[in-house]
Amino acid sequence: MEGEVVSKNFIEQIIDKDLEEGTYKKIVTRFPPEPNGYLHIGHAKSIILNSGIAKKYNGTFNLRFDDTNPTKEKSEFVDSILEDVKWLGADFGDHVYYASDYFDAMYEGAIKLIKKGKAFVCDLSAEEIREYRGTLKEPGKESPYRNRSIEENLDLFERMKNGEFPDGSKVLRAKIDMASPNINMRDPVIYRIARMTHHNTGDKWCIYPMYDFAHPIEDAVEGVTHSICTLEFEDHRPLYDWVVRELEFEVPPKQIEFAKLYLQNVITGKRYIKKLVEDGVVDGWDDPRLVSISALRRKGVTPEAIRMFIELSGISKANSVSDMAMLEYCIREDLRMKAKRMMAVIDPIKLVIDNYPEDQTELLDVDNNQENEELGVRQVSFSRELYIEREDFMEEPPKKYFRLFPGNEVRLKNAYFVKCTDFVKDDNGKVVEVHCTYDPETRSGSGFEGRKVKGTIHWVDAKTAVNATVRLYENLIQEGDEVLKDDYSNLNPNSLIEMKDCKLEAAFADVKPGERFQFLRHGYFCADSKDSTAEKPVFNRIVSLKSSYRPK
Ligand code: ATP
Ligand code: MG
Repeated sequence: MEGEVVSKNFIEQIIDKDLEEGTYKKIVTRFPPEPNGYLHIGHAKSIILNSGIAKKYNGTFNLRFDDTNPTKEKSEFVDSILEDVKWLGADFGDHVYYASDYFDAMYEGAIKLIKKGKAFVCDLSAEEIREYRGTLKEPGKESPYRNRSIEENLDLFERMKNGEFPDGSKVLRAKIDMASPNINMRDPVIYRIARMTHHNTGDKWCIYPMYDFAHPIEDAVEGVTHSICTLEFEDHRPLYDWVVRELEFEVPPKQIEFAKLYLQNVITGKRYIKKLVEDGVVDGWDDPRLVSISALRRKGVTPEAIRMFIELSGISKANSVSDMAMLEYCIREDLRMKAKRMMAVIDPIKLVIDNYPEDQTELLDVDNNQENEELGVRQVSFSRELYIEREDFMEEPPKKYFRLFPGNEVRLKNAYFVKCTDFVKDDNGKVVEVHCTYDPETRSGSGFEGRKVKGTIHWVDAKTAVNATVRLYENLIQEGDEVLKDDYSNLNPNSLIEMKDCKLEAAFADVKPGERFQFLRHGYFCADSKDSTAEKPVFNRIVSLKSSYRPK
């Protein structure tokens, strides 16, 4: 738009230049997950970045399963990745690809390199190859097999493919430069022999390409223009460029690196999440204490909140750590206007209004969201016996406690003033019932101005209350620690607290799994997608209302 200053991230600046110079005409990006686990919030960054760029530039966004490694892929992971990417709103249309579909192209590419004298079959063992590779300070040594003739290499490589040699006995290596300061360029291995059944190609192949050789070919075959990856691949870029150049792709793709998303004190790596799942520390990949996409979804986080968070965290070349409080801020921001605000008592005690008629019930009109009229009004029933939070009554209140205690008056949210008159304890000295009287003049909305009270508490009518289970979450790692110890000795024992027999207002009676609400004073909650039923609702706390984060 004219006059508008649009700040672009460094990747967009590169793309603008490429389009201006005519390097590329149509932008194609991709997200290339290895289907060996579930996606997490870090992957969301890559998905939102890549799909966002494709959208912005009217290009195409490919979802490509990077399944060239035959050991680890599982269809469970493929399915979950498809679901998660769609849920995040990244539009790949019908552009779903599998890297293993390009095994033939990769094999052809290897032959092409051999014919150009740019690849050779090497008989050194893995250990010898490592020894020959040299160090950062010292150049490597050339393999004694480096100067095999093209004919011999073609013959040996074909026989590798035909299964004539045992696993690990030979490899195909690119012939680049054993003295390169970049170790990745010291004649890297590009094919290995491994008799492993591949989930897609079965036993067709007993040789498999290495990642650094396969990935640029996958990109080039798909016509990807900008292959956006994370910083750890920066040192691999010269090899990426070498592969696409030597294979003479007409419009070679370009690799660009950006910094990974890290979250302070939160376990993000796929490997680490997998271990927690396998060790049974959490209840599956979608345990709401995790930051896998499926866990965030199950907890109740919206894709919009994740997008807002990714945008706020920015795209950069420098590693940094983001704060979970920022994600929580985005969740609150997103749900503030969307969620109905209802009353739920998580740790209930009875409140009896002694001067309220026993057989009477009033229906109070209550705004569903005071900031958003569009969410309408509901009726909330009020009668003689209510539930209130246990912590909203104290026998002997400390200073500045404005809630219920003997002799004190508070407002019941959306209803009347009540004054505490008495309480009942059980044999163990635990308060089980609080008594009060109400003042009929003070009904909320009646314009009553006779006197003021300092505290307002929420409540639920005992007659119509819905019983529910509520799950409260904290970080998996004990506070003060940054990483989870291998023996799990610093696991936070309060990472999941399950509250049973919570009392919810009647409007919760037909709650559907996945529905989100604000519980007044408690935070935002979502009916659990796995365990919640109309008869036995189960809610997950997505986030509390308190915030320690302010956007800059
Ligand atoms: P992890 O680092 O959790 O083990 P991975 O990198 O092994 O994940 P892949 O399936 O290989 O997982 O990743 C797919 C894409 O997601 C890659 O392009 C990778 O760079 C990107 N990605 C992975 N983790 C992050 C992250 N924390 N932030 C941004 N992008 C990420
Ligand atoms: Mg990986």
